[in-house]
Amino acid sequence: MKRIGFIGLGLMGRPMALNLLKAGYELTVYDRNEEKVASLVEAGAAGAETPQAVARASEVIITMLPNSPHVREVVFGENGLYPELRSGQYFLDMSSISPITAKEIAEKLREKGVAALDAPVSGGVEKAQAGTLACMVGGTEEAFAAVKDVLGAMAASAVLVGPPGAGQTCKLVNQMIVGVNIAAVAEALTLGKKAGVDPENIFQAIRGGLAGSQCLEDKAPRMFSGNFAPGFRINLHAKDLANVLETSHELNVAVPLTAQVMEMMQVLISDGHGTSDHGGLALFYEKLNSLSLQQES
Ligand code: NAD
Repeated sequence: MKRIGFIGLGLMGRPMALNLLKAGYELTVYDRNEEKVASLVEAGAAGAETPQAVARASEVIITMLPNSPHVREVVFGENGLYPELRSGQYFLDMSSISPITAKEIAEKLREKGVAALDAPVSGGVEKAQAGTLACMVGGTEEAFAAVKDVLGAMAASAVLVGPPGAGQTCKLVNQMIVGVNIAAVAEALTLGKKAGVDPENIFQAIRGGLAGSQCLEDKAPRMFSGNFAPGFRINLHAKDLANVLETSHELNVAVPLTAQVMEMMQVLISDGHGTSDHGGLALFYEKLNSLSLQQES
């Protein structure tokens, strides 16, 4: 399969699309922002004026959009893909959205003979640029095998975790672990600081033990420098936790830690920190306890 359609050319989608071009795929792109389309056309892609035009031109259609309503609109909305989809095509949604929506879309598309896969990613903009994202996939084994090379142009690893929706469930699990882990780091370092022990010394002492984690390694230094340039923005993480809570309510699963972190993020968003890195959860604890984790330089 050589002809790929790509919809959603934002922070993540643009470098992913560029990597597909670099790998030799013929790319047709669409974004509601025309400038983003123009910049990909300059790099060698064909520009489309609607999602429908992308569907007509492509064997595999990839979406990289903010959330469930945006994916629904691109598939089923005005000028959406749906009427132009035909049997034998693949729909690969790489956005982080609700697993409930992912399953609904897969069921509707199956009626047309189109295999849908949910393939959200972890790794952020740097790994999107390097083509080394980690991809968690929901779909059938046949569909996964068919799009594996396409995923390989954007990701260092792609794991089939289960049927449609399972990739999005896996991403929610990832976001729960990361959110709660960062909050725990901020909460614990706050106690250390209040007790009069230098948080940076604590970090050095504990990073090699059981409390060590990639979250501790990446986020504690940001807390010490007060540099919360993203990275991964708090408002995107809160969007993911909203999808966790929608899913947990549907299943009647209690997720008290995630719910607490969600409320911390709401405070930060109202305080104007929505576009800060999620390491900025430290700012919640700093406000609560009237202290700063920043090191004097
Ligand atoms: P972004 O906001 O930078 O990009 C989204 C793009 O979608 C924009 O270009 C926007 O114009 C376009 N768009 C929105 N609605 C549209 C519509 N109806 N039709 C056409 N185009 C539309 O977001 P991003 O950072 O690229 O994130 C995309 C997805 O990837 C999100 O689900 C996010 O949670 C996930 N993600 C992001 C990161 C990260 O570090 N930024 C990491 C992993 C996963």
